[in-house]
Amino acid sequence: MSFQAINATTGEPLSGTFEETTAQEVDQACGRAADAFPVYRKLSGEAKARFLERIADEIMALGPELLERAHLETALPLARLTGERGRTVGQLRLFAQYVRAGSWVDARIDPALPDRQPLPRPDLRQMLIPLGPVGIFGASNFPLAFSVAGGDTASALAAGCPVVVKAHPAHPGTSELVGQAIRRAVEACGLPEGVFQMVHGTGTEVGMAIVQHPLIKAIGFTGSFRGGKAIYDAAVRRPEPIPVYAEMGSTNPVFFLPAILKDKGLSLAQAYVDSVTLGVGQFCTNPGLAIVKQSDGGDAFLSQARLAMTQTKPAPMLTQGIFQAYSNGVEKLSAISRVHIASKTDTTVTDYAHGHPTLLSTTADAFLEHPELAEEVFGPSSLMVVADTKEEMMSVARNLEGHLTATVHGTPEELLEYADLLEVLAQKVGRLVINGFPTGVEVSHAMNHGGPYPATTDVRTTSVGTNAIRRFARPVCYQGFPEELLPDELKTANPLNIWRLVDGEWQR
Ligand code: NAP
Repeated sequence: MSFQAINATTGEPLSGTFEETTAQEVDQACGRAADAFPVYRKLSGEAKARFLERIADEIMALGPELLERAHLETALPLARLTGERGRTVGQLRLFAQYVRAGSWVDARIDPALPDRQPLPRPDLRQMLIPLGPVGIFGASNFPLAFSVAGGDTASALAAGCPVVVKAHPAHPGTSELVGQAIRRAVEACGLPEGVFQMVHGTGTEVGMAIVQHPLIKAIGFTGSFRGGKAIYDAAVRRPEPIPVYAEMGSTNPVFFLPAILKDKGLSLAQAYVDSVTLGVGQFCTNPGLAIVKQSDGGDAFLSQARLAMTQTKPAPMLTQGIFQAYSNGVEKLSAISRVHIASKTDTTVTDYAHGHPTLLSTTADAFLEHPELAEEVFGPSSLMVVADTKEEMMSVARNLEGHLTATVHGTPEELLEYADLLEVLAQKVGRLVINGFPTGVEVSHAMNHGGPYPATTDVRTTSVGTNAIRRFARPVCYQGFPEELLPDELKTANPLNIWRLVDGEWQR
């Protein structure tokens, strides 16, 4: 069956048709990935680095065609897409540097102690090795950075795992262009074609066929809670369960403390609304929840936020389905007792799939009574919860589920006074932000983009930054191995000159 991409701004079909991958083709793709694995996993760090850099170069060589197609399919502005392309090639190059340096394998050597009493210790050497072929699902809101050549693909390829990508049906043309760029890099580097493959599907069957395929050893997913949880459940029910690293939605609570609102309430209100409505609110780090303590500064903050929200124009969302889910989500929240629409942009503007920025407000008791108020509404809305006391603010924090981020705005003195709030929040999230906003996720070594369930299905990992590579590798211990059979990373002379933990001490 074939399908067409949709122009996200007008709803009209775009040029080009795409074929749904059949079950037999998914099976063949997984088979080719498994055939490529023994070759690809043996590649040196230098060879993998050159491959990742070549992918980055091939993506840049696509030029404006890639950005223009992505703009048509997502309605995201060209400037934003240019930045996202920079981030995408930047993360490929960062992983290239990381695997070229080589120390990511976390090599550990406990030399033999033949004379130890009462028992000798054998020679033990451990390092990380790649898991095997990985299935990858990208999200609609990042057609480049969390898609075909996004962070999951970069980290899996860096680890030494072939990938089978399920292209997102909301941007199939963008996916095809990037897929072709990766295939050109595979060819230029003389790698087996099974190192990278892409399949298309507009329903759940194609994705589920990847998840259930016995040759697939892990899944990287970015998308909705519903999709991530369905894939996780299917993966754990397989005869051989496999890890699923699903990065899902989050409401990213932002706590505004009273003294800072007194000093800077008006500018913070504008910055908060800007963060909520950035990219029509279509970020997993969008601050969908704000907690404010009742005070004069708090009232002024709320009035200014209302005004700023009304002044922000509606804009086209990624798909008609996302627009519909957003509108239904806002309606569902506003129907809950003691929840008020504090402000909304002009709803007489009815352009195709345009999301209207909306600010809702409620009290802390109503929020604590209705857990559904903490659920993600993907789009340009936020719920402001007004707490009468610090204790009420603490109860809201203690009752939160897992989120990707939490943010606290406060003066230096009140941050110390609210240190207990920071302690509670550290248990709830993967990244804690002070006096900033959670939108904007740096790709770096120290970044953690993850968090406790339901933000993700594996609290121990990140999907952004170099640590993401660890999701697609596992430790192996080599006991009593002759020197010549050891991988280079573990040879006594350290020919790769990597950092290793030798007898409990880091050395190179
Ligand atoms: P989505 O609808 O879950 O789609 C993601 C991918 O998963 C698509 O390829 C989709 O294919 C597939 N899929 C969904 N449900 C499935 C199922 N039951 N079985 C098999 N495949 C399934 O997500 P989206 O609308 O693109 O993205 C928006 C969401 O992503 C928001 O909730 C946002 O917060 C989240 N997000 C999270 C992060 C993060 O890092 N945590 C980053 C960006 C976005 P089909 O459409 O063909 O079913």
